Amino acid sequence: MTKSDIIIIGSGLGGLEVALMMAMEGRKVLVLERQHQAGGCMQSFRRGKLAHDTGLHYVGGLSEGGQLYDAFKSLGLMTLPWRQMDADCFEEIYVGGRKFCWPQGKKRFIAAMKRYFPNEEKGLDLYGELLDCTDELWLQKTNAWEYLTSIISDPLLLQILSAPATCKMELRKETLPLFTYVHGTAPFIESSWRLAADGNRLVSCLTEQIRALGGEVLTDKEVVALKEKDGRIVCAVCADGTSYGADIFVSNAHPAVTCSLVEECSQMKKVFRRRMSMQPNTFGIFTLHLQLRSDSLPYFNHNKFVFAASDCWDMAIDRSLTVKGIMMSARIAEEGESVTNIDILTPMLWEVVKDYEGSKLFHRPKAYEEMKARVAEQCIALAEKAIPGLGEKVVKTWSSTPLTYRDYNMTPEGSAFGFRKDFSSPMMTIVSPKTQIPNLFMTGQNLMLHGLHGVTMTASYTCQEIKNSTIP
Ligand SMILES: Cc1cc2nc3c(=O)[nH]c(=O)nc-3n(C[C@H](O)[C@H](O)[C@H](O)COP(=O)(O)OP(=O)(O)OC[C@H]3O[C@@H](n4cnc5c(N)ncnc54)[C@H](O)[C@@H]3O)c2cc1C
Repeated sequence: MTKSDIIIIGSGLGGLEVALMMAMEGRKVLVLERQHQAGGCMQSFRRGKLAHDTGLHYVGGLSEGGQLYDAFKSLGLMTLPWRQMDADCFEEIYVGGRKFCWPQGKKRFIAAMKRYFPNEEKGLDLYGELLDCTDELWLQKTNAWEYLTSIISDPLLLQILSAPATCKMELRKETLPLFTYVHGTAPFIESSWRLAADGNRLVSCLTEQIRALGGEVLTDKEVVALKEKDGRIVCAVCADGTSYGADIFVSNAHPAVTCSLVEECSQMKKVFRRRMSMQPNTFGIFTLHLQLRSDSLPYFNHNKFVFAASDCWDMAIDRSLTVKGIMMSARIAEEGESVTNIDILTPMLWEVVKDYEGSKLFHRPKAYEEMKARVAEQCIALAEKAIPGLGEKVVKTWSSTPLTYRDYNMTPEGSAFGFRKDFSSPMMTIVSPKTQIPNLFMTGQNLMLHGLHGVTMTASYTCQEIKNSTIP
């Protein structure tokens, strides 16, 4: 059995960032990933000549001095080919037969909203202050929906201010903390960026640095048990029978999965395990990947949101299979100026795919494929409101559902953003990276915030807790 200083279970963005941050501190790190490819939600896949992304479409806060800039710079990620999205309109929103644009920069954004909604000046000033708010505790304890409806009275403006969040967080009136809303919105208004490469480039940028510092990232290594001795984890046992020892273990897997790896008789209390496995998760996402005929559509440097329904806080597809709204994101083409592929995203509840949960990847029943085709058809019909004739430009499509995410990333119910954060429950707004086992920590989107910005903040939080601990 080989021994490392720190073993990280899972190579999602959170796992890789913790591994790199700790390797930079001089620790010998080992990442164990169950999939054949590293990256979790950051990974991309190739079909024919084109790469398609899964959980990376755009990032906020990468301008110099921006909310994510320093962290990405220190992780070597600012060397990647980031391209800023359209400064005058990075989010284009179609609702009720009208089109609205979000410009970048807080002042320009608020001014644009005031031009659309001159009667809402006061509320929009308060919204501007909210985007700058640094009182994290207040944000955590406040219900996002209640706060927004207390400052904004025009339902259409509320829809416009929430539209880009529909595929970035679970817009849930009863639970969403203002903390999640602000952290998932403000960095993007500050500045928004696309990667002129696929997500695997970001993943390899992190893995190459980890290896250069003497660490290792192993794939096809599903951790099936964490063995404990004298109150500490001593080794991670993989499905292929190999074992790896370390002083410290960090799990990037969903906390419910982490708990299932620890033996029954361990120090981890039953109440903690129950809490981690019973906590509700956010909805999943249905993604339709479109490959377009070459030179059929000029590149558009913004996202397009199209809504059929007037309440984007209730948008997830349920068993009725009605698509209520979509987000469209174009990839920067690998060659030429035209769009080669577009992703269409829309939230989907687990109940839609639950009947097929026993099926395996690439061997799904016909009814599942038919369900996906029905949803895809509606997505394209909605997309045509923003891009007339889009359907005729499509050469091929692929789609994924929450079931796909469950099977690739082991996220319960294929949840897109992990634990549903709840403003009314302090324990479920921020989950500590520490567990009751002193040398077992957690990281990733389930703990504090999701998305590239949130997971990076959470990775720093995990590393801080490791450094503060008394473990050598
Ligand atoms: C459809 C979609 C689109 C998104 N778009 C954006 C976007 O445009 N911008 C943005 O900022 N965010 C976006 N996000 C969110 C972002 O992708 C995620 O918040 C982030 O990637 C999560 O990273 P993570 O490290 O927490 O977890 P994950 O990526 O889920 O990684 C967990 C890893 O652990 C591995 N693992 C689990 N169990 C084991 C085990 N037993 N042994 C070994 N390995 C294990 C998994 O295989 C996986 O690789 C999107 C998410 C989705 C679903």
